[in-house]
Amino acid sequence: MRLERFEFSQIRMGVDTPIIVYAPSESQAIEACRAAYSRISQLEQQMSDYRLDSELNAVCKEAVGRWRRVSRELFYVLWRAHRLAQQTDGAFDPTVGALVRLWREARRTERLPDPQTLQAARARAGYRLMELCPRRRAVRLRAEGVQLDLGGIAKGYACDHALRVLRRYGLTRALIQMGGDIVTGDPPPDAPAWRIALAEGGETTLVRGALSTSGSTEQFVEIGGVRYAHIIDPRTGLGLTQLILARARARDGITADSLATAAAVLGAAGIPRLQRHYKGVQIEVREG
Ligand code: AMP
Ligand code: MG
Repeated sequence: MRLERFEFSQIRMGVDTPIIVYAPSESQAIEACRAAYSRISQLEQQMSDYRLDSELNAVCKEAVGRWRRVSRELFYVLWRAHRLAQQTDGAFDPTVGALVRLWREARRTERLPDPQTLQAARARAGYRLMELCPRRRAVRLRAEGVQLDLGGIAKGYACDHALRVLRRYGLTRALIQMGGDIVTGDPPPDAPAWRIALAEGGETTLVRGALSTSGSTEQFVEIGGVRYAHIIDPRTGLGLTQLILARARARDGITADSLATAAAVLGAAGIPRLQRHYKGVQIEVREG
């Protein structure tokens, strides 16, 4: 069967989300990609901190001091995020939302938060403030004002699920990208693998796997000659100030996405520790 290449692009979770598929016809490609995009939208409704009416934001309000049951998918992503937080002593931390909000405000006003505001937000962050109960599939927050943030892990997960949708439609030769997170299925018909251009120049290949890039070079605010990246260093409560580019290659997007973010915080020194917990994952960090 002759397959043709189709490429679509939409915005999801605040980033460009291109999908490339090989399909027997345009109508099949459109139908499958429409379903894949709507699957991503559904996950966005569950996991976005931007959307006021997301399930995640409902949890932040309703789980303070009491168990709140959540959807299977949200529970899984929170559980993966919490486990990575434990494994990295909180370098990766899905409870940094209050600090992320301060960073967004700093980007808007081009001023750092004052020390009291920063201190108050730091008191509302820390993965130990989030408890999970797998049996009840429920979440409990140990303080008022904890803002959960899955921005470092949910895109990879969404790519994984979009790929599954395409596969259900019979399209296995596909690539999905959400910002710095890429997940691929089978390669194009005429190639052994997908070719991926790298931000710093050059290219790499990827097949039936995930590649995520994270770091301080894309999104940052410059204040007083210092660049603060959109990734929070939980040790300071502020954006990362060191120049760093972290890349993780894994079998699935949720792993690559979350480990790339973790590696950006931990730096090259954190690679062995991450690899101890995640066998077979390749991590590369460039500093300076
Ligand atoms: P990524 O682009 O995948 O590295 O994710 C960056 C996003 O993760 C940020 O925009 C925040 O939403 C969130 N985030 C920031 N700092 C952290 C952190 N230390 N641990 C986990 N997620 C974070
Ligand atoms: Mg990430």
